Amino acid sequence: MSQRPTRIVVDLDALSHNLQVIHAHVQVPVMAIVKANAYGHGLVRVAHHLQAQGVTQFGVAFAEEALTLRRAGISLPILVLGGILGRQVGQLIQHDLEITVSSLDKLRKVEAAAERLQRKAVIHLKIDTGMERIGVHSYSCAAFIEAAVASTWCVLKGVYSHLACADDPHSPKTAQQLERFLQACAHFERIGAPMPIRHLANSGGVLHFPETWLDMVRPGIMLYGVLPDPAAYRSVDIRPALSLLSQVVYFKVVKAGSSVSYGATWAPAQDTHVVTVPIGYGDGYPRALSNRGQVLIRGQLHPIVGRLCMDQFMVDLGPHGSAYVEDDVVLIGPQGEQILTVEDVAAWADTIGYEILTRFNERIPREYV
Ligand code: PLP
Repeated sequence: MSQRPTRIVVDLDALSHNLQVIHAHVQVPVMAIVKANAYGHGLVRVAHHLQAQGVTQFGVAFAEEALTLRRAGISLPILVLGGILGRQVGQLIQHDLEITVSSLDKLRKVEAAAERLQRKAVIHLKIDTGMERIGVHSYSCAAFIEAAVASTWCVLKGVYSHLACADDPHSPKTAQQLERFLQACAHFERIGAPMPIRHLANSGGVLHFPETWLDMVRPGIMLYGVLPDPAAYRSVDIRPALSLLSQVVYFKVVKAGSSVSYGATWAPAQDTHVVTVPIGYGDGYPRALSNRGQVLIRGQLHPIVGRLCMDQFMVDLGPHGSAYVEDDVVLIGPQGEQILTVEDVAAWADTIGYEILTRFNERIPREYV
C-alpha cells in the first residue's frame, strides 16, 4: 500500500449510480467506454466493477487496452474502437476481441487473418458521417457493407458512427450525422441482410439526442460523473466518481516581495503564509494551473501561487491563514461545504474535463471506496 499523501480516490458506488441512471434514461444496452485507463479511474478495477453492474460490453481505443482487460479476466465482449493495422488483427481474433473495420482494405486483412487462424472474427463496421476520423463515408459505403455481409470469416455484429458535436444540444450537425447513419444502415434492408447492432450515441448523444440511442449507447465521460461540456444542461443526476487528494508537506512565512517558485512569477505584497503540496505536472496535474488554479484546505479555497513544479506546488493561505503539515488538501472533490470539480480545474487550465482526467498517470496511487 502506497504511503504517498497524494492519491486518487474512486467512488465505485458513484460509478454504479451513474450506470443505473444511464440505463434508466436510455433503456437500451450500454457499451461502457473505458479507454485511456477508464478516463484515469483505473482500467481493470473499473471494468471489473462495471462488468458486475450489468454493462453489456466494453469499448477501448487500442488493442493493448483490450488485451489488458482479457488478461485481467474480463469476459464480456470488448470492442477496439480505434483504427487497427494488419499486424494487430491476429492477436485480436485469438483473444475474442471485437474489431472495428473501417475500410474495405481492413476488412480483407481481417478476413485473411481469420482464415489463417481458422477462427471467425467479430467485427463492427465504422461509418464516417461527419467526423472525418476513421470509417467509410456514409455516401459511398454500399460496397463496403455488401462485402462485410458476404464475408465468410467475419461475423458482422455491429455498425456504428461517432458524433462530432453532440455535447452541444443546439448543433444541427448531430441530426445530419444521424440521418446519414440511418441512410447507410438502410442498405442492410435494401440487400435483405439482417441489421447489425446500430450504435451512435456518446455521452452528448445520451444527454441531448434520444433519436441517437438506437440499439446501444457508448457513454464514456458521463459514466464517471463528468459532463462532456461544462455548459451542458445537467439533464440526468450523475455523480463525479473521482477525487484527487493530497496533504500539506510544508508551511512557511514568505516575506513581502520574496518570489515563489521557478521564474519568480509571483511575490506577495505583504508577509503571507504559504504551504507546499506534493503533486506536480510529473503526475499529470497541469502546469497551466500556475498562478491560476485553486485548492481546498480546511474547507476554504486558496490560490496556487508561482509556477507549478514537476512534483510540488505552493498555495497562498493569506497573512492570517493557518494550516498544519498533514492537513488534507483537496484538488478535485468535496471538502466541508465546498466542492472542486473536474470542470473547474479544466476551466483554469483552459482545457476540457476529458484531458484533465486522462492526464493523471501511474505515479498517483488509486484507492477504491
Ligand atoms: N465512442 C467513441 C468512438 C469514442 O471515441 C468515444 C470517446 O471519445 C466515446 C464513444 C465516448 O465519448 P464520451 O466520453 O464523450 O461519452
